[in-house]
Amino acid sequence: MSTCAALIVAAGRGQRFGGNLPKQYAPLKGERLLRRTLRAFCGHPAINRVVVAIHPDDAGIFAELAQGFPNVTAVNGGATRQDSVRLGLEALSSAAPDLVLIHDGARPMVSARLIASVIEGLRASDGIVPAVAVIDTLKRVSGREIGETVSRDNLVRAQTPQGFRFPIILTAHRALAGEALTDDAAVMERAGHRVATVPGDEANIKVTTMDDLASLTASLSETRIGQGFDVHRFGPGDSVMLCGLKVPHTHGLVGHSDADVALHAATDAILGAFGAGDIGQHFPPSDEKWRGASSDRFLRHAYELLRERGGVLTHLDLTIICERPKVGPHRAAMVSAIARILDVEEHRVSVKATTTEGLGFTGRQEGIAAQAVATVRL
Ligand code: MG
Repeated sequence: MSTCAALIVAAGRGQRFGGNLPKQYAPLKGERLLRRTLRAFCGHPAINRVVVAIHPDDAGIFAELAQGFPNVTAVNGGATRQDSVRLGLEALSSAAPDLVLIHDGARPMVSARLIASVIEGLRASDGIVPAVAVIDTLKRVSGREIGETVSRDNLVRAQTPQGFRFPIILTAHRALAGEALTDDAAVMERAGHRVATVPGDEANIKVTTMDDLASLTASLSETRIGQGFDVHRFGPGDSVMLCGLKVPHTHGLVGHSDADVALHAATDAILGAFGAGDIGQHFPPSDEKWRGASSDRFLRHAYELLRERGGVLTHLDLTIICERPKVGPHRAAMVSAIARILDVEEHRVSVKATTTEGLGFTGRQEGIAAQAVATVRL
């Protein structure tokens, strides 16, 4: 079986990106881009070793992010991408792998399937480029003026990883050092070698701007839904707590805390959306600490846990089920109260009410039930 190394090019300073850090070190959902890229190659069964060409100024931050990855070596890159690749290939020359995949550090979404497909393509070719279709109409411009429309026929966009037979690409890079070629396939072509394509992957984007990073982050988030349900029985008293508001009534609600049935259902819905157990686990009724506790603390705690996990609340929808007290007159104030507790916009909170037409325990006015559905983005 042939040996295959990966060379990841991460020496650029990312002037198009803005910010203090080069783009390959920007965080993507809590993990630096380059670390995600490394993970794709280090975790691939066909890759034996990984060399990363970095800028000398980034040695510290790179050492930190590469922790825990075996068979990764950093080498100092050069002034241009082409120089960095050549220096990376020289660093691999003593190991002399059969094949090398050369990849942009700022393409963190490279899939195991694409890596395998490039390697597979090298059975029949000395060089392989993943290629995707050109969808938009192409124009040649002069300033803002369109000069001509360029035919898309036979045009593709070249991605990385680009795969090569190692001795051939090393020789080609040595021979063409100092030329300003934008990718390694171009080096091979210039040296007179044939390069073929395999289907690329639209998800394998190169992060170049902050907008790229923002849309990538959004595409990686997932929507989850949690639901909660709670019941409290009526007892002596002259008011009930509902959605953090004191609502006058002929009875109170019985409970260990303030018995705010609506906030309890909401708390369980949020916890449920990210699999964090239930309200009883976080605030055991057996704990004296929570006797008479104001339930806004439960809801806020659940939401803080969600935020710590990188989640945000998209929407919280509550249904209060009772004959009395009438919820309608308090509905707007309830929405405001919950929005305040969670520090979210009011349009993200909905409070509804229904009776059960006199049926069941709520119909007999023995207590109040509440249901909640929380939609969160993780
Ligand atoms: Mg409860």
